[in-house]
Amino acid sequence: MALGGFHSIAYVLKKAWASGGVIAMWRAMRSPNACKTCALGMGGQLGGMVNEAGKFPEFCKKSVQAMAADMQGGITADFFERYTISQLSAMSPRELESCGRITFPLYAGPLDMHYKPITWNDALEKVSTQIKETDPNRSFYYCSGRSSNEAGFLLQLAARIRGTNNINNCSYYCHQASGVGLKSVVGSGTATVDLDDIAQSNFLFLIGCNPASNHPRLLKSIIDLRRRGGKVVVVNPLREEGLCTFHVPSDTKSLLFGSTISDLYVQPNIGGDSVFMLGIIKWLLEHDSINNDFVEQFAEGFDEVASQARETEWDWIVTHSGVALSDINQASEMYSNATSAIFCWAMGITHVKGGVDSVRMIANVAISRGMVGKVGAGLLPLRGHSNVQGMGTIGVAPKLYPEMETAIEKALNITLPSRDANFRGGDTMACMEASFDGLIDYAICLGGNLLGSNPDTKFAMKAMSNIALVSYMSTTLNQGHFLGRGVETVIFPVRARDEESQITTQESMFSYVRRSEGGLCRHEGPRSEVDVIVDLATRGIGTIDWERYKNHDNIRKLLAECISGFDPSHEHTLPDRHFHSPIFNTDTKKIKSHRVNLKSPTEIVGSQLRLMTIRSEGQFNTVVYEEKDIYRKQKRRDIIMMCKEDAIAMGLKQDDTVRVKGNAGELLVVVRYMDIARTNCAMYFPEANILLSHEVDVESRTPLFKGAVITIEKV
Ligand code: SF4
Repeated sequence: MALGGFHSIAYVLKKAWASGGVIAMWRAMRSPNACKTCALGMGGQLGGMVNEAGKFPEFCKKSVQAMAADMQGGITADFFERYTISQLSAMSPRELESCGRITFPLYAGPLDMHYKPITWNDALEKVSTQIKETDPNRSFYYCSGRSSNEAGFLLQLAARIRGTNNINNCSYYCHQASGVGLKSVVGSGTATVDLDDIAQSNFLFLIGCNPASNHPRLLKSIIDLRRRGGKVVVVNPLREEGLCTFHVPSDTKSLLFGSTISDLYVQPNIGGDSVFMLGIIKWLLEHDSINNDFVEQFAEGFDEVASQARETEWDWIVTHSGVALSDINQASEMYSNATSAIFCWAMGITHVKGGVDSVRMIANVAISRGMVGKVGAGLLPLRGHSNVQGMGTIGVAPKLYPEMETAIEKALNITLPSRDANFRGGDTMACMEASFDGLIDYAICLGGNLLGSNPDTKFAMKAMSNIALVSYMSTTLNQGHFLGRGVETVIFPVRARDEESQITTQESMFSYVRRSEGGLCRHEGPRSEVDVIVDLATRGIGTIDWERYKNHDNIRKLLAECISGFDPSHEHTLPDRHFHSPIFNTDTKKIKSHRVNLKSPTEIVGSQLRLMTIRSEGQFNTVVYEEKDIYRKQKRRDIIMMCKEDAIAMGLKQDDTVRVKGNAGELLVVVRYMDIARTNCAMYFPEANILLSHEVDVESRTPLFKGAVITIEKV
């Protein structure tokens, strides 16, 4: 089957046709706004479908799916009369997304069977009164990576001025381990490379990620790298066909004949990546292939890592990584021949216990060959949503950087609450736990689907239901609106970024800040997120002149006073994040190696397997655009993907129905054979969240969406 290719072209045309025609879709996609989907980034002032290097056309199915969702007609008021909350609760994410745009504020109280339209004034009054009357310590403020820097900055400012540091964003459930790990290695929590580095590189590690599904445009860069003679090693327990062969629609040769993506595909156990990486360092040591000049001049702590590699027996490495010695040898040899290597990773690394150490171990491998701190080489966490990195930059986190806190206080002549998070740290799971314990009375969610992105769905539902008032700012419906209701719930309909009447900004995974021009408002009713926040803050918080921030230029001027290198007027790359020479942002200016606590993949017995939750090709985060997953050749999502040998050993065959039991719940699903490392299995996110406990990784506070042990029973 052609992965990508003609299927993608046909799909895009079909989607465009259904969304008002190919011309309307073309106009929308070409408008000078940042892509609404992944953080690879395209669009902005250079025009839609253009990347920061000026290359055109840059778009994929996902960007079209997101655009099509925003181009839908409005939901009418009688829709909410026809459907009860419990009926809507039973709808799938895809069904809810395709109900249309929300165009008027909605309210549901404790006894309501239906959401009811309410006026903007009533909605703002209800929510701002709750903000005013709630002890700030009993509130939290959550932002998704869909929103703009302007809205995110203003919301965190409102929270702090109101008196709480319970401020967090969706990265706590995805790439937090990357930020924590990278900060401890290079002194900065973001990618050390820019887009141009990929074009200069001749070796790529893709570790615990699936860009074919989640960052499709990266595949073109990978194909170009291989055409230059470069090599690609994929490290993933599940053999993803899209990472083996891919048909890139914008490349005629690739479109017609397909392109090989991986030169070597390594399938470790879930959570076995760190041990595999240690094996590479051991091989390099044994083959005299360490870049000693780099290690001695520009790195600290590598001796400790080398000792750890020498002390660890090969048998232990093979058993605990789940990777055959021949694969470790081959990957190591290929890497040792590379002159410029980039390490990409995603949630296969950050969703496991010890994710921060896994990031550090990837960095150790880079350090061992001097593959960071030069052109064409470095560390690249593949971030999810289009502005998730921006949310961190502009302060949507429990703790502000001290310089930023001081700058805000000086600029506004105010004093912000303590620099220590004042409520159990205030990260996302801490706020969910506090809600579960009945300690939160008000919550606001700027975009996203907080309920759907949580593990332990029953816990998350209970937590949200304990909150006196939950307010959402949303463009379309999602399950959070129904299963994540508070005692009272208000939904504010907001504009998408390409409907704003003023410029907004978004930051890509390469620290490139794009300016989205906005555009024509598609529906009367939805308002700018910034306007809603200003109105709530004016009524419920006061203290400063919020109205002046309805002008986005004024927010960006304030951002420029608070963030070094933030340009309020132009698209730009944030400074001091990319390292093209071996001088880093650490106290000693050297890169830091870390000896890590190696985690063994969890022991399993009998009919147990280690589970990883994964996204499908037609899905973006919790939004499922298509039930079928063409890359894995699946037409349904209620499946467990396991290898044939494990299934046979358990007396199971393809299409058998099984009960999967996790720590927090159980699901009936169908067995599907898949090429996945033995003793491991995969199920779809967010459906499988119901199985998982809400335990988090200690250092990053990220829930363990991968690596939990599940038990399988035939029914
Ligand atoms: S790869 Fe990401 S940034 Fe590029 S078009 Fe697709 S969703 Fe948008």
